[in-house]
Amino acid sequence: MIQKIQQILGEINALTAATAEELETLRIKYLSKKGEISALVNDFRNVANEEKREIGQHLNTLKNRAQERFAELKETLENSQSTSSDIDLTRPALPIELGTRHPLSIVKNEIIEIFARIGFTIAEGPEIEDDWHVFGALNFPPEHPARDMQDTFFIEKNPDVLLRTHTSSVQSRVMMAQKPPIRVLCPGRVYRNEAISYRAHCFFHQVEGLYIDTNVSFADLKQALLYFAKEMFGEKTEIRLRPSYFPFTEPSAEMDISCNLCGGKGCPFCKHTGWVEILGCGMVDPNVLENCGIDSSVYSGYAFGMGVERITNLKYQVKDLRMFSENDLRFLQQFEAAY
Ligand SMILES: [Zn+2]
Repeated sequence: MIQKIQQILGEINALTAATAEELETLRIKYLSKKGEISALVNDFRNVANEEKREIGQHLNTLKNRAQERFAELKETLENSQSTSSDIDLTRPALPIELGTRHPLSIVKNEIIEIFARIGFTIAEGPEIEDDWHVFGALNFPPEHPARDMQDTFFIEKNPDVLLRTHTSSVQSRVMMAQKPPIRVLCPGRVYRNEAISYRAHCFFHQVEGLYIDTNVSFADLKQALLYFAKEMFGEKTEIRLRPSYFPFTEPSAEMDISCNLCGGKGCPFCKHTGWVEILGCGMVDPNVLENCGIDSSVYSGYAFGMGVERITNLKYQVKDLRMFSENDLRFLQQFEAAY
């Protein structure tokens, strides 16, 4: 009998089934009430008492192993069926969505690239600043009304710590750290305490430029800005400079470009003037040079600063400033082809 049990055990271990029907036939052959294992169980009654213990153990092993083996075969069969029916190799793959650069980054990089061609390198500095670098060194004395134009966010317990209102703070750091000639661009995020609306936000982005050397004149400034305007908005672009006031430059000017929508003829976008404002500029005030340890009797320089949002609006006519920070993909995906 033990021999018979071993033989069936060997058969069970070697079983294979390619289909569910085949497996069922085998199951009936071995495990059903009239199957081979049941037959052995019936025979077990006739086994002599002294042999029952040993044969019983073998019989139990066989029964357990058989059930286990059929469960295994069933699982293998189900897995192979599900993989063959669920995978459709002819189906196209899911598309990988390509990201895009943010419109502000596209424009910022373009500005940087244009000025890099005439020798400007990048300088960066902290967004959390102190009063001296943002205001003091740049000719904003304490209590001066010019500070009102650039209200920002202060730490209540230490008003000397504040969020920078312009990237000019980086210019003051560069001037304190380097000897002229200096030719840097300062791109970055700045903060103002403003009510948020379609045309103002509590943060925005600037690119400022600073050039200090011997014999730098207003003509150099004008030429650099004309070059920039033509590179950015097209060869036919014209510029005009209007006198203005900034504490850190003297003389100071606002620069307009001929409206890139109507070509200067007048349209609703330029309020029928033919001109749109794009940046502020001027010759660095000698006080600022001295504050930063540069001899103003030897060196002179110019500085300019523009809002990246403003330039982006001019290029792409984005009506609402808030859209730049809302992370709305329907808006951002429109710039896919822009770079
Ligand atoms: Zn126009």
